[in-house]
Amino acid sequence: MRFVSLGAPGVGKGTYTDILAREYNLPRISTGDLLREQISKKTKLGERAKSYYDKGDLVPDDLTTQILKQRLKKEDCKNGFFIDGYPRNLNQARLLENITKIDKVLNFVASDATIIDRLSGRRLCKNCGEVYHIKNVPPKKPGVCDKCGGELYQRDDDKPGAIKQRLLVYSEQTAPLVNHYKKKGLLLDVDVTSPYEERFKVIEKIKKTLG
Ligand code: AMP
Repeated sequence: MRFVSLGAPGVGKGTYTDILAREYNLPRISTGDLLREQISKKTKLGERAKSYYDKGDLVPDDLTTQILKQRLKKEDCKNGFFIDGYPRNLNQARLLENITKIDKVLNFVASDATIIDRLSGRRLCKNCGEVYHIKNVPPKKPGVCDKCGGELYQRDDDKPGAIKQRLLVYSEQTAPLVNHYKKKGLLLDVDVTSPYEERFKVIEKIKKTLG
């Protein structure tokens, strides 16, 4: 099965998509992760993407489409995948249609207050990428990853100015995709307002619906 995950920044779609991908034994392809990798390696593409990324703006479609296309060619995508973070606008949705067929679009939804809280408290491990939240999913030792002992950091685009911009970009450019996929009969709404501890209940519900 070929899935796409939609949802506002901070809604938790990365976390949920990650669990689902493991359950279905399929790769999770996050364009945000692919871009962060290019930016940290200071590649040509990363250098072009960085200024947009840091402000919370969308990186130009040609760059994101290029990295996604290359990633989907890899052997592990043969039996399906979960794409997380692409498409982000209607043009990307059309570009995606030329690259691959999509079987289902999961639309993760939560209240605005939940989203802002999740974004501003999010911390990541510099070393292994594990995701924490200072209140909801704190590490055992503040600032240190439970898994690998790596240092935790806050993404530049999780800081207040960029958060505001990302939410604005989402409502103007990405939210119209919900209707786009609803009309195509591909959309499945998933309410993820419930606390993190209840995530497996949500996952079971999704799996039941997907069959
Ligand atoms: P994410 O990790 O999905 O929250 O993405 C972080 C940032 O990467 C976004 O705010 C954008 O700047 C950029 N980005 C990720 N995916 C895309 C995409 N499909 N199109 C444009 N920009 C993207």
